[in-house]
Amino acid sequence: MTKYIFITGGVVSSLGKGIASSAIASLLQLANFKVRIRKLDPYLNIDPGTMSPSQHGEVFVTDDGAETDMDLGHYERFTGIISKKSDNITTGKIYSEVLKKERKGDYLGSTVQVIPHVTDQIKNFIQTDLSKEDFVICEIGGTVGDIESLPFLEAIRQLRNELGRKKTCFIHLTLLPFVSVANEFKTKPTQHSVKELLSSGIQPDILICRTTKKFDLESKKKISLFCNIPMESVIMAVDVKSIYEVPITLHAEKIDQRIFDYFGLKNKKLDLHKWKNFNNKVKNINKQVSLAIVGKYLNLTESYKSLYEAIFHSSVYNNANVKVDWIDAVKLKDKDSCRKYLSNFNGILVPGGFGKRGVDGKILSINYARNNQKPFLGICFGMQLAVIEAIRSVKGFEKSTSSEFSKRGNNVISFMDEWVDDKSIHKQDTKNYGGSMRLGSYDAILKKGSKIYNIYKKVKISERHRHRYEVNFNYKKVIESNGIVFSGISPDGKLAEVMEYIDHPWFIGVQYHPELKSTPFNPHPLFNSFVNALIKNKKKDG
Ligand code: GLN
Repeated sequence: MTKYIFITGGVVSSLGKGIASSAIASLLQLANFKVRIRKLDPYLNIDPGTMSPSQHGEVFVTDDGAETDMDLGHYERFTGIISKKSDNITTGKIYSEVLKKERKGDYLGSTVQVIPHVTDQIKNFIQTDLSKEDFVICEIGGTVGDIESLPFLEAIRQLRNELGRKKTCFIHLTLLPFVSVANEFKTKPTQHSVKELLSSGIQPDILICRTTKKFDLESKKKISLFCNIPMESVIMAVDVKSIYEVPITLHAEKIDQRIFDYFGLKNKKLDLHKWKNFNNKVKNINKQVSLAIVGKYLNLTESYKSLYEAIFHSSVYNNANVKVDWIDAVKLKDKDSCRKYLSNFNGILVPGGFGKRGVDGKILSINYARNNQKPFLGICFGMQLAVIEAIRSVKGFEKSTSSEFSKRGNNVISFMDEWVDDKSIHKQDTKNYGGSMRLGSYDAILKKGSKIYNIYKKVKISERHRHRYEVNFNYKKVIESNGIVFSGISPDGKLAEVMEYIDHPWFIGVQYHPELKSTPFNPHPLFNSFVNALIKNKKKDG
């Protein structure tokens, strides 16, 4: 029978509930349990798809085409379990389902209320679309005390009542600050946070306390006493350098044992060698290369979380630390500024993006990479701009553009409806902004002998997409007249998936987001190859 572990957070946000949930899931997997991880987000958007990445962080896309919270990316990277649409729910989605039912008359004349109708919908979500999992870990977004998360807390309180304590466990994550003037850890914020949770009828069974350094037994005793939790269930989570050390540190603190004890399961000896090996490799990296990412959301590692992680996985694979610098596209105005800002890097990456701002600078950086034999990777928007950059040097096509940011000139990047007759392929929803992109996994067929084929070493690949616009294949011949090859295309031959230059050491653009599928134990071949190209570039430049 499935057991549910609910993870809440208190005191402050950004304590790393997503990482803690992922690490716990990984430990349970190592004990041979089947696990699913789900995220309940309290905000009113139907999904994070319409939110600015600078507010909410990256939008993580699942295979089945859902735009979800970036924590689902961590879940996948830590566990390899492929997330589904049904693994992320928001208050907005819950309410829209409830209101749909109300309009259909499904509530048979009742007054529709938060309790029971909204909470029922939440409980329903937590328990559906499962396939005999031993554990479902549910992370509750937000911080305890937020008005928004109350219905979620109420729903999990009810579930404890319905399923019993043998099938439900509450883990609460808090902050244990060290106050240096007093030279002691302060347990009060944790006590208050637990009190707040208690006011929703939830007594945590296990506490994870985030701290900057190891805390003493006294603090543990105090927390145990005031929060009504056995001493051994007060788990210390000291800050670590890399998120991938968390499974090891939580295991060292015996969190898995506590969970097994709690559920009355036999204790298992876990083999953590894969985590240890990975972290050892990280510590032993002895090369360094540099990469310029040209974009407009600057210094926001959260907006491009999966990209950072994918680069990191491949740097570990290649034993070379990739030092990433963000270059504000707006600073790139001409060839000279490109030389000034880009010449010191071993490669250039233009990531996914939206809108007009920074486009000219990005195109200039692509031109710089092409002409200076710098390794270049263009992802989604980056690939579309590489196509525009290429066709603009063909006589008569100097004004080529994308319908995303200009209506004048040849729209070599445009809505598919603008150039494909067969409307059944992809009808652009022009009325709705949310959820209307080409989303989720699509196949691509790679051309034998091409660079991309030699990287994947197979003809058919499947990668995740999130974009509205496509390369307009009415211009395919013109674009290809300039040294580009479309070495990956959709199975029906209508859509560009990969472009590359034949006579460049490493210049590849992909319409999809390879970063969404990279994991520490399965680094993505495209990033592996790109990082290798950075290393080669460094050797060449001496
Ligand atoms: N803005 C582009 C589009 O919608 C690219 C999107 C992206 O890079 N994810 O097609």
